[in-house]
Amino acid sequence: MDEDVRDSRPSALADSAPPSTYRGRFAPSPTGPLHFGSLVTAVGSYLEAKSRHGKWLIRIENLDRSRETTGASKEILGALEVFGMEWDGKVIYQSGRNKVYQAALTLLEKQGLIYSCFCSRKEIADSSIVGIEGPIYPGTCRGNLGNEEQPGARRIRTDNRLIEFKDGLRGRVRQRLERDIGDFVLRRADGIFAYQLAVAVDDADQGITHVVRGEDLLSSTSRQIYLQKLLGYSTPSYMHLPVVVNAQGEKLSKQTHAAPVPTSDPVSQLVMAIRFLGQTPPAELTESDITSFWQWATRNWKSEKIPQKILPPRERASNQGKM
Ligand code: GLU
Repeated sequence: MDEDVRDSRPSALADSAPPSTYRGRFAPSPTGPLHFGSLVTAVGSYLEAKSRHGKWLIRIENLDRSRETTGASKEILGALEVFGMEWDGKVIYQSGRNKVYQAALTLLEKQGLIYSCFCSRKEIADSSIVGIEGPIYPGTCRGNLGNEEQPGARRIRTDNRLIEFKDGLRGRVRQRLERDIGDFVLRRADGIFAYQLAVAVDDADQGITHVVRGEDLLSSTSRQIYLQKLLGYSTPSYMHLPVVVNAQGEKLSKQTHAAPVPTSDPVSQLVMAIRFLGQTPPAELTESDITSFWQWATRNWKSEKIPQKILPPRERASNQGKM
């Protein structure tokens, strides 16, 4: 496995903590350097973990190496270090785990749930109803269920049983996969495993008990729970944080040309990140050092203050001076 060589380092925050079974994680895709949106997600998951004396693991989600930016993983890890965020254990890279994902796919194949699909994007778009995440696959290739593996994408058959979970911020979330999403791809025709399968496998392998991530992934969770159940994994708790948007209301990302988060004054960025998450640090915290920042933030972290509704950037900017 392609792994980071650094070992786990003792956390400055773990001092006299009682033992905890909490295992959280941050799972960035290395499509570019850390931007403010990913910093917010990292900080939210870190504080949830550290305020409960839990572990915090890192996984680099680089399944599709063509989308990876050279050096981005290193830059992201380097930035996390500058921000004083200490992770536990070795960093896991999805690019080195195809065998593990294939083993999971084989288990699902044995349950008679996987079929090969040869539809093009256009065919799917032309013959589908549009659901919450684009076209709902109409099941055109379901007739291949039970056939030998053929070239093409590998899809999993879904059903209409209710999948329900309680999100830490959003409360009860319900989906019926066949109706809301459709049969979904677990391995693309080019052999690349899909995020939904990899994340279910990796969260289980890393023993993750609490997933804290951006709300853009809220509607993926039911697919992951479906896979966890079929693969005999336990289901972690979920909390989906508000995502940072730009002036056009788009999520910050490489596609929306998000700027790298400046690392020259890490404490001010961290203070902005926790303010975005509804926390109310004293003005002097901006002048403090990283260790004092994390001490304050860990002791005073209140997830119930995280806003569910994101203020448009203009309102947010005018609110920031008031804290
Ligand atoms: N790799 C995903 C991202 O960077 C996050 C996946 C997850 O947290 O499940 O948006």
